[in-house]
Amino acid sequence: MSPPKTMSGILIEETGGVEALQWKTDLPVPELKEGEVLVRNEFVGVNYIDTYFRTGLYKTSLPLVTGKEAAGVIVALHPSVTTTTNPSDQPSLQEGLRVAYIADHAYAEYTAIPSTCASPIPAGLSTETVAASLLQGLTALTFVREVAGLARPRDTTHQLGVSEGPWALVHAAAGGAGSMLAQLLAVHGAKVIGTAGGPEKCEVARRNGAQWVVDSKAEDVVARVKEITGGRGVDVIFDGVGKATFEADLEMVARKGTVAVFGNASGPVPPVDVLRLGAKNIKLMRPVLFAYIVTKEERDAYTKELFELLLTGKVNVKVHGVYPLKDVGKGHTELEGRKTTGKLLLKV
Ligand code: NDP
Repeated sequence: MSPPKTMSGILIEETGGVEALQWKTDLPVPELKEGEVLVRNEFVGVNYIDTYFRTGLYKTSLPLVTGKEAAGVIVALHPSVTTTTNPSDQPSLQEGLRVAYIADHAYAEYTAIPSTCASPIPAGLSTETVAASLLQGLTALTFVREVAGLARPRDTTHQLGVSEGPWALVHAAAGGAGSMLAQLLAVHGAKVIGTAGGPEKCEVARRNGAQWVVDSKAEDVVARVKEITGGRGVDVIFDGVGKATFEADLEMVARKGTVAVFGNASGPVPPVDVLRLGAKNIKLMRPVLFAYIVTKEERDAYTKELFELLLTGKVNVKVHGVYPLKDVGKGHTELEGRKTTGKLLLKV
């Protein structure tokens, strides 16, 4: 059956609060361009970046159907998309195939995406699980490899006892990206300290593999981290909170350590005087997932590995809630209000 001409979705005509997310029932279904496939979305992942586009922190042209990831079914392919586009160990792209993707314009019933972004969902994983784990899971996996430099999961036969890996600190370790980071760092043998706001979130962070948790709403994070590490500080800090935590990062990082600021949940970090990095030879990074999965080879290799980690249960995703697409504003309010743990999904 060919796709309809119009569809429902969320349109942003002017940036602002959650009222900027307008439910529309007469959006045009995108016409396929060369190299694209049309996906009927089933689950759309809510990510903090969606709030940056909504508020205008990240600039783009309007009107905009935002949303960076979803999973669903291919319903049409541009004639230029051939089966040779996909590696031989993956099913060919065809109508009816379940796929997940990271691409633009996901807050809608249908999304046209480059065929190179369509990742076939393995039989053992549900569409919901993959929609809930793709963007944040790939963020964590690329960061563990390319920021922390941890090459492979440690041997499971060697899991007893205290890890010999680096000290790693994950802010918001009960959140979406933080949950994935804490689990993956633990799987790779790091000594993981997680921060989280409040006792319930601290428990989630602990279940995510943080051997030490610090309640960022009740404790002095810098003092606790120094105490936990015997005054040494941590080798790598993953900070998606940004403005509110950056100064503490510079205090908590060990000599020759890495501070990776990867988000702005509390606001963007103001410009930094690089001379401040010299006292401890700190490496300061601002990593972005999208720049680690530019080529199809990079994207496919990391996605394959993430799916294996999910299939073997080494990494799990906790879905905080599933809302109808038209209630996306509720999701943004909860995310920005620090009310969520794990992943928020939208059902289309
Ligand atoms: P989360 O589920 O982690 O939600 C954000 C969390 O940040 C909150 O739950 C809260 O946890 C913490 N937080 C601390 N201070 C604030 C504040 N003032 N306002 C809001 N939240 C606060 O969201 P995501 O997993 O979607 O994203 C987390 C971060 O990672 C974001 O900054 C996002 O932009 C970034 N990101 C970056 C990527 C990249 O490629 N660079 C890719 C993916 C995500 P608590 O209450 O426990 O402190």
